[in-house]
Amino acid sequence: MDIGEKITALAKRRGFVYPGSEIYGGLAGTWDYGPLGVELKRNLKNEFWKSMVQERSDIVGLDAAIIMSPKVWEASGHLTSFSDPLVECKKCHHRFRADTLISKPGTPNPVACPDCGGELTAPKQFNLMVETYLGVIEGEKLKTYLRGEITQGVHVNFKNILSSTRVKIPFGVAQIGKAFRNEITPGGFTFRSREFEQMELQYYVKPDMKESMKQFEYWKKERMAWYVSLGMKKGNLRFKEHAKDELAHYAKAAFDIEYYAEGEWKEMEGIHHRGDWDVRRHQEFSGEDMTYLDEEAKEKFLPFIIETSGGVDRAALFFLMDAYEEEKTKDGETRTVLHLHPKLAPYKVAVFPLLANKPKLVDVARKIYDDLKKDMMVAWDDRGNIGKRYRAQDEAGTPYCVTVDFDSLESPPAGGDVTVRDRDTMKQERVKIKALGDYLKEKLI
Ligand code: ATP
Repeated sequence: MDIGEKITALAKRRGFVYPGSEIYGGLAGTWDYGPLGVELKRNLKNEFWKSMVQERSDIVGLDAAIIMSPKVWEASGHLTSFSDPLVECKKCHHRFRADTLISKPGTPNPVACPDCGGELTAPKQFNLMVETYLGVIEGEKLKTYLRGEITQGVHVNFKNILSSTRVKIPFGVAQIGKAFRNEITPGGFTFRSREFEQMELQYYVKPDMKESMKQFEYWKKERMAWYVSLGMKKGNLRFKEHAKDELAHYAKAAFDIEYYAEGEWKEMEGIHHRGDWDVRRHQEFSGEDMTYLDEEAKEKFLPFIIETSGGVDRAALFFLMDAYEEEKTKDGETRTVLHLHPKLAPYKVAVFPLLANKPKLVDVARKIYDDLKKDMMVAWDDRGNIGKRYRAQDEAGTPYCVTVDFDSLESPPAGGDVTVRDRDTMKQERVKIKALGDYLKEKLI
């Protein structure tokens, strides 16, 4: 099994990610996050928000609607240019994204159908926007779209943000939310889904090429450093510059942060210089004045925009891959462990009574569990032997396990303590119950 298959299996087995609508045979390109997955994703988003909004004075947050006026998508160019080249096999009628077929290493060009070897049609542009209809009168419903990117919700609110906050250029707006794309070939587990989440920053700067490129370089570094600060291995990360002919319709410059997975470099986040495309187009299409007034310089202008656009699901998948290890232990066994950064780990600690049929042990363990739960996500397990419980928590990425035994019931100084076991080193330490909360909080920060 390769790492992708192993992660897919572990995700299902342990409750990180399930196939969407599975009992009805599934729905291609949709996924449901289980009890562990929802915590991992929530932690990722919280870390993004903390670094982008909470810890900064130049960035504010926003949560715009998923469904917007169809005029937004006309203005942004999505209705004409948000497309991928589609080819169809003349024999089996399977459809593929032409650019991914051609760029596969070692594949002859022009390629044949990867499924049956049949001849492929010439590529035609296929629009990725997902259509939906609003209204109550049949025949008069408004055709609109589920947003293909979360970006436009920010730009249409540019003036609202200026008038309701004290921000001054340069400033940014961060947003996290769902986006939808009718992908031609969803796949690679959650890597390419039809419904997914994005975490973005739109940073408004003066329309000066030199100055804006400085900001572009700054945000490239910041975003790469963020992934590394959450434990992603530097060797698995790189920047990839978009060639001029690969640039999106709005972009002046673009770099991707790529992650090395399954023998290939794959896009995880894009850093784009959008010029003044979005504000200019919305000004043109809406008739609203989108200019910014620089009170000091007494000048009015349409700002340039630097964007950082990451996929929450892709990042979660790559963090899982990066953390996954099958480790040979001293006793010759193999343990599967997720070395997730404590900030990302779904559960921070697991609490076990040594024996489930000893009420005194269970009572003390339950009290510890209830106390810790006020501050962090805590797992409880009283089934099977302790070794098996450790292995189960290793697979879930839980950094610490706490076991309550008979010594825990004795009074200090001899007793009143528990065993704390470290996921990564497997070392065990005795810690007094009274000091446990502070001990764990210090380790987990
Ligand atoms: P790709 O070339 O892989 O289709 P893109 O360049 O179209 O991606 P962007 O429009 O720049 O992607 O979107 C920003 C981020 O959103 C991507 O880096 C990725 O992390 C995430 N993303 C985009 N499309 C998908 C998808 N179909 N499923 C999951 N995440 C996605």
